[in-house]
Amino acid sequence: MKQDLKLMREFRRVLAPKGVQGIFFYCEDCTEEHFYDWDIMEANMLSTLAEEQSAVHEPSPNPDPHNYVPWDYCLGYLDGIQQR
Ligand SMILES: [Zn+2]
Repeated sequence: MKQDLKLMREFRRVLAPKGVQGIFFYCEDCTEEHFYDWDIMEANMLSTLAEEQSAVHEPSPNPDPHNYVPWDYCLGYLDGIQQR
């Protein structure tokens, strides 16, 4: 989980300048996609690390889906950069 936080910060560093506002996940509880700004992602991860209840069902208000990418996309993007 600490590793995830590190990864997420790396994603933000490379993707935020490209206009990516955050990450989206498909949530099986709500059967819909949740959109999270980088700040919200970070706060969620920190509270999970602190073993607090994470606010996973409190996504960003009125997100523009075009500005959010899935976690796997970020992983692939980072791989692409590191292979250059
Ligand atoms: Zn949900």
